Amino acid sequence: MFKPLDINENTGKKGNEPVDAERVKCLIIGSGPAGYTAAIYAARANLSPVMYEGLQPGGQLTTTTEVENYPGYPEGVTGPVMMEDLKKQAQRFGTDVRWGMATEVDFSGDVHKVWIDETKLIEAETVIIATGATAKYLGLEDEKKYAGGGVSACATCDGFFYRGKDVAVVGGGDTAAEEAMYLAGLCNKVYLIVRRDELRASKVMAERAMKTPNIEILWKHQTKGLFGNGVVEGATLVKNLGEQDEEEVTIKIDGFFLAIGHKPNSDIFKPYLDTDEVGYIKTVPGTSKTKVPGVFACGDVQDPVYRQAVTAAGSGCMAAIDAERYLSEKHG
Ligand code: NDP
Repeated sequence: MFKPLDINENTGKKGNEPVDAERVKCLIIGSGPAGYTAAIYAARANLSPVMYEGLQPGGQLTTTTEVENYPGYPEGVTGPVMMEDLKKQAQRFGTDVRWGMATEVDFSGDVHKVWIDETKLIEAETVIIATGATAKYLGLEDEKKYAGGGVSACATCDGFFYRGKDVAVVGGGDTAAEEAMYLAGLCNKVYLIVRRDELRASKVMAERAMKTPNIEILWKHQTKGLFGNGVVEGATLVKNLGEQDEEEVTIKIDGFFLAIGHKPNSDIFKPYLDTDEVGYIKTVPGTSKTKVPGVFACGDVQDPVYRQAVTAAGSGCMAAIDAERYLSEKHG
């Protein structure tokens, strides 16, 4: 949550701590495909971008294995290698990539203030927010145990590896319905694990999922754990029979897909920017502009619909071009 720091405007000190301030033309927060693409374009436009990588350098893609749907890699590439390539490309043109996380912002003035790790103050003429979104997990130990071994939060990224196999999708919203249908086109069978007796998904999507012959909906089921020798071979579920009665069920699966929502990493910006009810930053349609001049958003933090590496990269390019145009209009 937003927690104002006690910064003394006159002394530039936080409480009694000295604040180390630095002025930059373009600050990029976040280092996924959106952030790095913004950096490549901003650096080539002489904006001397400074990037803070955030908690998960490289972003969500570093948690995937093979990426096969990003144009330009005919043989596929692993997520970490692709992010390392993007980083090198951004650095080649002079992007200053740094460790650190933005912990507070002040977008009330003409120059935008961003605090890094609660101590370092950056004063930026333009800020490009590329902080991404984080997929929600159930919080089971087994999700960590089988990370990269059958557990995924992105069917579009990883579904291909489960062709002809049986998989499960957890969730009852539009994402779960969409991912279940996508997987149904590739896999032998898809279990859709739904904790209630109805889907939250829109009527059209819910009906489509229910009519798909190789999707079996397991109503009122919750996941207790996963099992398998090194990789997922099955899941143990608990079926709610009502009246506090329940039954344990096991299913044999090779892939376990989470689709219980994403959380955009936008909390620190909320006092200054508009967000939707989930927290996605609102931008002027067809641009990366937020409601604050000089502050731009790109990638998953502002995209509830597509959330792909390539769309994130495209919107990062838009943000850098918008930032460059903003600066040239400002300075003439
Ligand atoms: P939602 O928040 O809409 O749905 C999350 C689902 O996960 C719900 O069914 C919820 O169950 C379930 N869930 C949450 N926590 C748990 C848990 N711990 N255990 C089991 N189940 C759980 O998220 P979505 O990602 O599906 O959608 C987000 C937004 O994006 C929505 O507005 C959606 O309409 C939109 N969207 C639109 C698409 C499209 O139009 N093509 C595609 C994808 C998303 P419960 O229902 O019981 O709360």
